[in-house]
Amino acid sequence: MSTGFFKNRSQNGAAGPGRELRCWLCQGELYPGDPYFALDGRVVCEDCLERYARRRFAHRLRRVGRDEEDGRGTL
Ligand SMILES: [Zn+2]
Repeated sequence: MSTGFFKNRSQNGAAGPGRELRCWLCQGELYPGDPYFALDGRVVCEDCLERYARRRFAHRLRRVGRDEEDGRGTL
């Protein structure tokens, strides 16, 4: 009749409350209920999503009017 089982659950620290998350870019703390993006195993807050995307895809940046290197259209 003992219900002491539940008392020990939080002691192994598995996904318990109080596990704080921080944004990988701005180091801002995220609180329960705050939205964030899990990208490449990192935590990125909403405000930093654009910065992260720009950094992530910097090598994809193109400018209109220059010759592209995709090899198409040059027969
Ligand atoms: Zn952030």
